[in-house]
Amino acid sequence: MAIADVLEVARRDPSAVAVFTDFDGTLSHIHADPDAVVPVDGAVVALEALRQVLGAVAVISGRPIDFLARHIPEAVDLSGLYGIERRVGGVPGVIPEADAWRPVIREQLDDAQRRFPPEVIEDKGYSLTLHFRRTAELEDEVALWAHEVAAQTGLQARPAKMSIELHPPLPLTKGDAVRSLTSGQTAIVYLGDDHGDAPAWQELRAGAYEAIACVVVTSDDTPEELRGLATDIVSSPESAVALLNEIASVATGQVSSSPSN
Ligand SMILES: [Mg+2]
Repeated sequence: MAIADVLEVARRDPSAVAVFTDFDGTLSHIHADPDAVVPVDGAVVALEALRQVLGAVAVISGRPIDFLARHIPEAVDLSGLYGIERRVGGVPGVIPEADAWRPVIREQLDDAQRRFPPEVIEDKGYSLTLHFRRTAELEDEVALWAHEVAAQTGLQARPAKMSIELHPPLPLTKGDAVRSLTSGQTAIVYLGDDHGDAPAWQELRAGAYEAIACVVVTSDDTPEELRGLATDIVSSPESAVALLNEIASVATGQVSSSPSN
C-alpha cells in the first residue's frame, strides 16, 4: 500500500482520510537554531486546505505546543512532546502523569545550563533536548551526560538527528498519538523524517487500516533504517507540501486520483 491507495479513498470519501505529520525536517527545514525553524512556504495553507475536507489533520511533534502554536492555526490539531501535550479542537491539554516529571526536568536543565553553552540546550518544559549541530565537538560529552542523567533519574535518553532528548519515561510515542487522534478514519497518511516518527509508521503498518502511506521525508542525514519503513519517499519538505496539496486536490475533486491520469 502507498499514497495512491490513500488518494483513491480520498477521492471517494475524504472524511475517511486522516493526515498526520511531523514538523521539524518534514514541514520545515532543520535549522541550527531550533527557535528559528519555520514551516516552508505553503505548508500551513496545505494543512488548512486538508482540514476543510478530511476526517482528521494533525501535527505530531516532539516540540512543545507553545512552539507549534506559533506556526499552526487552531483548526489543525496538535500533539506535542510526543503526546505529553496536545491541542485538539483548539483546546490545550497536558497529560497529568507528566507533572511529576517537571521538577526533575527543571533540575537537569539547571545542571545542563551550568555545563553546556546555551546553543546546546532547548528547554521544552516537560522535556529537555540537547543539540550538537552547532557544537559537534561536544557530542560525546553531552551524550555521556544525558545517559548518566537518564540512569540516575529514570528519564529516557532518546537520540534524534544531531541531538539527544531527555524525556519523561511515559509510555507515549507518536504511534500512540496517531491512534488517539484517529476517530474512525480508515486511510491514514503519516509524514516524518526521524527516529521519533518510526512508531507512527509502525502503528500504520500494524493497524487494520484500509490504506496507509508511510511517507519518509529524506535529507542528507536521514537514518538509513527509516527508509525501510517507507511506503513513499519524498526528498524535501517542499515535496512533502506538494504531496499534501495533491491529497487536498484529490479530496476536493479538483483532480482525479486514477493512476491512468
Ligand atoms: Mg522531524
